[in-house]
Amino acid sequence: MLNTSIIGYPRIGGNRELKFWTESYFKGGISADELLTNAKQLRYAQWKKQQTSGIDIIPSGDFSFYDGILDAAALLGAVPSRYRELGLGELDTCFAMAKGYQSGSGDVKALSMRKWFNTNYHYIVPEIEDDTALSVVGSKPFDEFDEAKSQGILTKPVIAGAFTFLKLAKFTGKKSAADYAGRIADAYGEILARFAKSGAEWIQFDEPVLVTDLTKDDIAMFTQVYTAILGKKGTLKILLQTYFGDIRDCYRDVVNLPFDGIGLDFVEGRETAALVSRHGFPDDKTLFAGVVNGKNIWRNDYAKTLKILAGVRDKAKSVAVSTSCSLLHVPYSVSVETRLNAEVSKRFAFAEEKLGELVEIAKIADDENYSANPAFVANAALHAGSGQNSDPAVQKRVSALTAGDYARLPARPIRAEAQKAALNLPPLPTTTIGSFPQTARVRQNRANFKSGKITYEEYQANLRGFFAECVKLQEEIGLDLLVHGEFERNDMVEFFGENLSGFLFTKLAWVQSYGTRCVKPPIVFSDVKRASPITVEVSRYAQSLTEKPVKGMLTGPITILNWSFPREDISAKETATQIALAIRDEVLDLEAAGIRVIQIDEAALREKLPLRKSDRHSEYLDWAIPAFRLTHSGAKPETQIHTHMCYSEFQDIIREIDGMDADVISFEASRSSLAILGAIKASGFETATGPGVYDIHSPRVPSEREITEALNAILQSVKPDKLWVNPDCGLKTRGNEETVPSLKNLVAAARAVRGKIGT
Ligand code: GLN
Ligand code: ZN
Repeated sequence: MLNTSIIGYPRIGGNRELKFWTESYFKGGISADELLTNAKQLRYAQWKKQQTSGIDIIPSGDFSFYDGILDAAALLGAVPSRYRELGLGELDTCFAMAKGYQSGSGDVKALSMRKWFNTNYHYIVPEIEDDTALSVVGSKPFDEFDEAKSQGILTKPVIAGAFTFLKLAKFTGKKSAADYAGRIADAYGEILARFAKSGAEWIQFDEPVLVTDLTKDDIAMFTQVYTAILGKKGTLKILLQTYFGDIRDCYRDVVNLPFDGIGLDFVEGRETAALVSRHGFPDDKTLFAGVVNGKNIWRNDYAKTLKILAGVRDKAKSVAVSTSCSLLHVPYSVSVETRLNAEVSKRFAFAEEKLGELVEIAKIADDENYSANPAFVANAALHAGSGQNSDPAVQKRVSALTAGDYARLPARPIRAEAQKAALNLPPLPTTTIGSFPQTARVRQNRANFKSGKITYEEYQANLRGFFAECVKLQEEIGLDLLVHGEFERNDMVEFFGENLSGFLFTKLAWVQSYGTRCVKPPIVFSDVKRASPITVEVSRYAQSLTEKPVKGMLTGPITILNWSFPREDISAKETATQIALAIRDEVLDLEAAGIRVIQIDEAALREKLPLRKSDRHSEYLDWAIPAFRLTHSGAKPETQIHTHMCYSEFQDIIREIDGMDADVISFEASRSSLAILGAIKASGFETATGPGVYDIHSPRVPSEREITEALNAILQSVKPDKLWVNPDCGLKTRGNEETVPSLKNLVAAARAVRGKIGT
């Protein structure tokens, strides 16, 4: 029978226990010993679950208190001196690198954090200084392997691969990744020796960087590092694990190296099956076929999977069935969920259910008479029932769309004139991104309503009070374009999901985003439609309180889709188009209600940008950008459309962002402004821009002078008639204490600079 294997398991605990323990430890609520003991019990329960589910090759070392790349840095002694000097133990040093450290003995900022490939998980970026030794100094993976072994479970240790580690690290001195190739190979050789001694059979090295665009130098470095590491493998079996795509740039290099197993992703790897069939697979290795999706929440379609496996077994003598990536990216278990009814939950497989799927698939794949196998029959029946999630009216509307629906007329410069006349704003207008501080009163109001302590009418009356205060506050501060404050929303995606049909919500389906932070994405379950206006009443009310324009505030279709679990029976493009039509209806209703400026946030536009440059257009941008245009192409010329994006790293898609055809865009720029401003200047960016002039992620109050300087610097790249003045993101996580003085300084700076540019 085929062996079953998983790449990694979630670690936050089915009820986010690890999050609560860790946060309690941070606050001094529990001791380090308690934290370690609790975590040990959690690991044991999870190994046991995998074992009783029938998984053959169970991972260890996939557990982490914060992040696996950070753990690898600690293991290899890649700890910058400013953290070493704090003199903390292994665990606290990791936490200091992850979150920063402030106490009597030191004040150090956190290492930076980056998006983990095309997921919503984030890793800590290791920093390597010129004097970093890169040798094995930590013990976490060895301890966890021994721990499992002493509990009677022989695991497969999982460690970030040497190549991926070097590629993701930041080199802060003169040296570069290539300078460390020899040293890191020695360190990994030592890791192998330690595991061989402890009695491991398989060890897994994760190398997701292999699915990205690689240069010849990258492949040469990969080959050099692994030739050296594999020379030291002894009797250990080495599994090279890839995920999040296919390894088209290096397939032959990889299979020619003496690995014992190679893990390939057949779900996101568009070319994986073709690579195997074209180039074959060596007889002396096991192909770990990633056929159970580690990112989605839907039940596997066994008929499809068996077909893939049959193709693989044609070429590869030894095959194991595996997940496509770590199960870290899915929630724990459907079985404990209380907010989904049985009719829908039978369609879902979270981490625990996916274990069962792997075991069933392995069994069925060796069953001559599989079409009569009850597990197969049940699965086929489940998938035969598709189509019931569709709404003919929505489908008809989507299929009736024509090219004209995606183009707003007249052209942007002509609209700009119309808007200037209609809005009468000063040059360098000031505004905010939408949300104002969610104070204790705001949260209490929501909690009171949810628990039934106050009626819907009382809840709404309180909200109106908050909106009125917020409008008054903005007028006092002197902002030019106002917002209502978003006090009715707790999350920008959840709020719209709850008000559109087609979404499902869970109670417990949490997924780790970074460290102790988890998200609970909505599920797109059926065709999406707007039943009635969502934000119109609130916007109309806020606008009635002031002469100044108040922005209508919407979340864009790509962000709603990217922060949800998507459907798979229809394409992402189709779902995005459906959501876009719903948002379009809202835009038109806001406009009809007298709202003159509408912001459609696309905070997560970059989230699912394909990893390979060559796939970006055909697989994503070619429908994502038009979906955004569809939301506002029906607006009148004098209605001003704003958008907002959070990631400043978008210089490489700057033209596409301009192609969203918004009138104004605001974005985060306070931390890495230069690259994006350079790109704006060089690309002849047409959209008016509000590069964030201060960082709202910190409680610091920026001075008027600082903001003035930032504006003067920005004016080197953005023409004065195209420049807006705003913070870099919404203010909801901040307090009023710092928000009010910060915004006052922002307004004062804008006025000072306005005076100087003489308009
Ligand atoms: N309008 C939203 C807010 O201000 C935007 C949030 C975001 O960009 N993440 O909160
Ligand atoms: Zn933002």
